[in-house]
Amino acid sequence: MGVDNNFALGFLFSIETGVYSFLTYLLYSFYQGFGRRYVKYWTLSLACLSLQHLAVSIQTFLPQYHDLSTIQILLTCIIQVHQYLFIWLFFIGLYYTNKNQKYSNSFVKSSIALPIILGLSVSLLFAFNEQAVFNRFYLRESLADFVFAGIFMFIFFFIFNVKKRHFSGTILLIFSAMMCCRYLLFSFLSVVFLTETWFQELSYLLIYFDFGAKATLGFLLLVWMQGAERSVAEVAINRAQYLDKHDLLTGALNREQVIEKLPIAIDQAIESNQKLAVYLIDIKRFKFINDTYGLKTGDLILGQIAVRLSESILLSQVVGRLSGDSFVFTIEIIDDSQQEKAANHLHDLISRPYFVNHQEVHLQCSVGYCLSPQDSSEAEDLLKKANLALFHAESQNIPSVKYEIGMQAHGRHLLAVEKEIRQGLNNEEFILYYQPQLNLLTNRIEGVEALVRWQHPEKGLLSPDKFLPDFDALGLNGELDNYVLDLACKTNAHWYQQHKRRVAIAVNMSAAEFQDPKLISKIQTLLFKYDIPSNYLELEITENVLITDISVAMDTIVVLQNMGIKVSIDDFGTGYSSLAYLRQLPIDKIKIDRSFITEFSTNDSDLTIVTSMIKLSHGLGKRVLAEGVETLEQLNLLRKLGCDAVQGYFINRPLPPEKIANYLTRKK
Ligand code: C2E
Ligand code: MG
Ligand code: MG
Repeated sequence: MGVDNNFALGFLFSIETGVYSFLTYLLYSFYQGFGRRYVKYWTLSLACLSLQHLAVSIQTFLPQYHDLSTIQILLTCIIQVHQYLFIWLFFIGLYYTNKNQKYSNSFVKSSIALPIILGLSVSLLFAFNEQAVFNRFYLRESLADFVFAGIFMFIFFFIFNVKKRHFSGTILLIFSAMMCCRYLLFSFLSVVFLTETWFQELSYLLIYFDFGAKATLGFLLLVWMQGAERSVAEVAINRAQYLDKHDLLTGALNREQVIEKLPIAIDQAIESNQKLAVYLIDIKRFKFINDTYGLKTGDLILGQIAVRLSESILLSQVVGRLSGDSFVFTIEIIDDSQQEKAANHLHDLISRPYFVNHQEVHLQCSVGYCLSPQDSSEAEDLLKKANLALFHAESQNIPSVKYEIGMQAHGRHLLAVEKEIRQGLNNEEFILYYQPQLNLLTNRIEGVEALVRWQHPEKGLLSPDKFLPDFDALGLNGELDNYVLDLACKTNAHWYQQHKRRVAIAVNMSAAEFQDPKLISKIQTLLFKYDIPSNYLELEITENVLITDISVAMDTIVVLQNMGIKVSIDDFGTGYSSLAYLRQLPIDKIKIDRSFITEFSTNDSDLTIVTSMIKLSHGLGKRVLAEGVETLEQLNLLRKLGCDAVQGYFINRPLPPEKIANYLTRKK
C-alpha cells in the first residue's frame, strides 16, 4: 500500500472517528435527558467504536507500518478490545430496551469482561512471531468477522421476538440480517481467498461499506430511541389522563368523573325507557379497619371493593369512589322490585370476606339510593338525594334506605339543630334525671338509671325522644354518651361527698360509643378522676349493639366485666337477639322492655313471655329487671315470678339529682 493510499485511508478513518464521536455525543445528550439504561450502553458502545477508529487512523498514519512494534501492538489491543466492546455493549443496550430482562444487572455488567478478554487474546496471540502473519490475520480479522456475524444473528432473533416492534426495530432487523451475511461471507472468504487480489479490493470496498453501515446503525439507534421514548411518553400521558379521571387508589371513577358520567347514564336510561337507580354505599366502621389492620390493608380492601362493584353481574354504568369509604353505583332498572334486589346484591358483594395479607376481614355497608327521573334528572341532585337516604340508613342502622320526599326537609332541620345541640353541650344544658331501681329481694334501692334531659333555653325541659333521634342522625351519640358518663360520675362523687353514701349509676350507651376502641380508657380515666369504685358504674346497651358486631361487643364486655363494671341489656325483647347467644356474653342483667310489662297482668301472652324470659334468664345465670312497672299489681306479680329488680313510675319517676339526694338521706 502506498503512502498516498495510507494517507487517504487514514483520512477516511479520521472522518469515521469524527462521525462516530458526533453520534456518541448525540446519544450522550439523550442519555442525560432521559437517563435510560439502554441509552447509556449505546453511548458507551459508540464511544468504543470511536476509540477503535481513532486507533485505526493513528495506526494507518504511522510512518513505519510494522506489526511487531510496541506501539502497533498497543494500538492493536485498543482496536480489538474496542471493536468487541462496541458490539457487545450495543447488544446489552438492545437487551435493556426490553423491559422484562431475565438476567440480573450484575450478571450483564460482568459479561463485559468477555469482549475485553477476547480482544486482548487475539491481539497478543502470535503478536511477537514475525512469521505468523496469516495466523494474526485469521485471529484479528476472520475471527472478528465470524463473531460479529454470530452476534448480528443473535440480534436478529432478539428483535424478531420483540412483540411490539417500532418501525426502527424492523429496519434494525433487516440491518442485522444484512450485517450477519456480510460478516459471515467475509469471514469465509478471508480464510479461503486471502491472497487473491480481488479479495484485497473487496476488503478495501468494505471499509466504505462498513463506514456507511455503522453510521447508519448510529442513526438507527437515535431513531429507535426517539420512537421508544415517544411511546413511553404516550403511555405516561394515557396514565396521567386515566389518573385524572380515576381514583388513584381503587381505579374507580373519581367524584368529578362521576358527575360527568351520570348525565350520560341518565340520558341512556331515558332513551331505553328505563329508570336509573343511583346507589350510594358507605362502608361501616372503615376507620376501625384502618386502625386495626393498617392503612395499607385498608387501601387494598377499598381497591377490592371497587373491583367487586365494577365486576358486578348487574352491569353498572357508573362505579365511582366519592370519598374515603363511600362508593357510587348505578344501574338501569325496569320494574320497582329490582331496586331492592340490587341493594341486597350490593350488601352481598360487600359482605363477602376479604383476604388481605393472610387475614380474613369482614365488612358491612349502608346503602342509600334514589331514582332518575322520579327523584331528579340532575346528577348533583341525585347524589345529594341518595346521600340523604344513606344518612337515614346509617343513623337508623337500617341496611338500605330509599330516598323519600320528607328527607330533604329533615336534612335542613338537622343542619339547624346541629348548631343548637353543640351549643347545648358546651353550655351544659343537658342534665340528668335519675330513676331508682328497686331490688325485690332486699327491698332496697340497688341503683339508679341516668336519663338525659335537655334544659332548652327556649323550649324548656325536653325529654330524650325529642332530641335523641337528631343526635342519632347527626352521629353525635358518642359525644352525648361521653357527656352523660362524665356528668353521672361527677354526680356520683358529689353524692358521696355530701351523704357518705354511694349509689350505682346505670348509664345508657349508644351502639357507636360502645364500639369505640377508646371507651375503656375513657371510663378508666373518669373513675380515676372522680375516685369512684368501678362497681358503682353500670352500662346499659341495647340488643342492636350486639347485632352490629358481636365479636367487638363481646371483647368490650369482657374487659368491662374484668374491670368490675356491670353491663346490662336494655329494652330486652324488642330487638332480634335470642337468649341463646346472650349466654355467651358475661352480662350481668337483662332489662325486660316496658312494652311487655304494661299489659302483662291482663294479657295472657305477655304474661307467658315475661314468665319465660325470667326463667330463661335465670337459667343462663343472669339477673332480671322489669322496666315500666306502674302498678302494685304488676309489682306483686313480678315478685311472684321471681324477678330480681324493678324500675318504673310506681317506684319512682326519673328524679332530678337533688331529689335523689333527699331519697338517699331518707332511706339511710
Ligand atoms: P330506657 O333506657 O329504656 O329508659 C327508660 C325509659 O322509660 C325512660 O324514658 C323512663 O323515663 C321511662 N320509664 C321508666 N319507668 C316508666 C314507667 O313506669 N312508665 C313509663 N311510661 N315510662 C317509664 P326516657 O327518660 O324518656 O328515656 C327514653 C330512652 O332514651 C331511654 O330508654 C334510653 O334508651 C334513652 N336515653 C335516655 N337517656 C339517655 C342517655 O343519657 N344516653 C343515651 N344514649 N340514651 C338515653
Ligand atoms: Mg336504659
Ligand atoms: Mg329500657
